[in-house]
Amino acid sequence: MIQSTPPIVDEETFRRYSGISLPRHVSYPMPTWWSDATEADAEEMRRATERRDQPLDRSLYVHIPFCQALCKFCACCRVILRKTQPGAEERKNVYLDALIAEIRHLGTQPGADRPLRQIHWGGGTPTYLEIDDITRLVTATHEAFTVADDAEVSIEVDPRVTTVEQLSLLRTLGFNRVSLGVQDFDPQVQEHVKRIQPYEMVRDMVAACRELGFVSVNFDLIYGLPYQTIETIRDTLGRCMTLAPDRVAYYHYAQIPEKIATQVAIHHHMMPDSQTKLQMFLLGVQMFGEAGYDFIGLDHFARPDEMLAAAAREGTLQRNFQGMTTGADLDLLGVGASSISHLSQIGFLQNVREPNTFVEHMDTAGSAIHRRKPFTFDDCVRQAVISQIYCGARIVPAVIEARYDIDFAAYFERELGIMRDLERDGLVTVESGNNVQLTFPLGRVLMRNVAAVFDAYLDPEAYRTGEQHCFSVNA
Ligand code: SF4
Repeated sequence: MIQSTPPIVDEETFRRYSGISLPRHVSYPMPTWWSDATEADAEEMRRATERRDQPLDRSLYVHIPFCQALCKFCACCRVILRKTQPGAEERKNVYLDALIAEIRHLGTQPGADRPLRQIHWGGGTPTYLEIDDITRLVTATHEAFTVADDAEVSIEVDPRVTTVEQLSLLRTLGFNRVSLGVQDFDPQVQEHVKRIQPYEMVRDMVAACRELGFVSVNFDLIYGLPYQTIETIRDTLGRCMTLAPDRVAYYHYAQIPEKIATQVAIHHHMMPDSQTKLQMFLLGVQMFGEAGYDFIGLDHFARPDEMLAAAAREGTLQRNFQGMTTGADLDLLGVGASSISHLSQIGFLQNVREPNTFVEHMDTAGSAIHRRKPFTFDDCVRQAVISQIYCGARIVPAVIEARYDIDFAAYFERELGIMRDLERDGLVTVESGNNVQLTFPLGRVLMRNVAAVFDAYLDPEAYRTGEQHCFSVNA
């Protein structure tokens, strides 16, 4: 077994800053600040994308909410619909009809001729869909949009319910990336979170994906789950390395049963404490580093030749609802229940969350738009700074000044004052030109505190006192 020693973090400073709840900023501004919207609002925002000096190409997120069984830790927007349940087939089909109707509707909207450079199917469990369903959905997408020949086309795969036949079809239909929900390899942890998938099952699925020619195989892992210990995590990480994924998202489990009812059965006494979770995270940083992976942003690791690592080096990385992605220069369109569109420099749009409501809205109104957040100039500037922090662990004022024509030092006078305080506590270094670099490991593990300083919607003291609670865990 690998016996790596994680880097050391100053425990007193870590305790002082980490005992508070802060957002992870998968969006800025956060959904708390969005307002109700209609399809007319959405159309106006889509039209605005056409008035930009340079129209952008697009990416498409497709949400499939169904799952065969519930994982106890799940914070996703999903519906448990066993295929043997009466009416399950009909429920799936009406959702699929509504999803295709929304894709067709967006295909008539301004800018539909601009190519899709990325497509991502997430959930829920996208491979809940049968072969015919998958073919229908892909055909509808190609009829509504122009898909670039070299598009990145990815799908989230649950090894427990995905067949080699499905993977083979997906590959034939142009999917070239898969993301496997692995979470943890320890049998006791798997039993407690009700997600049982032996190492051999994941190993065989990875082998099938490689055989079929998927260019990137990604894993999602979670640390902080019940009954995890440093030794079980060390073992999970070691097993993960033997399968050599191209990219890994190493998420922190957030226990918020007051918001996520399914977590009620997970009691505090089962959970590792915050110091242990910190050690789990640092162990991951150490082991992935030793295995040759680049550490990216808050919690991602990628092989240096993987697109995510290349995008991090080129500064084209972005953080959004899908985690860390390439394609910062694309407009993101979301379809399906709860999905979010991010129209660059224009705003966010979100569909209704609940799948039955999504179907009803599509049937009666031809649209499921529910919430929106048009960006102000200040939103755009701060979003760019927060993105630099999460994607590159630094702030480069010259880039922000060139893009937004501001004097960074004057615009962020208060925030730069706080950066000096954080420098004294060892979270950042402030260099010439007000370039801010997050330190390793302390600044990287307290990245959310640094980003919170630039969030104009939080209390100005939130970065050290906490005032928001906004976590999520990807499936
Ligand atoms: S973690 Fe994934 S597979 Fe499990 S219930 Fe949630 S969405 Fe479904």
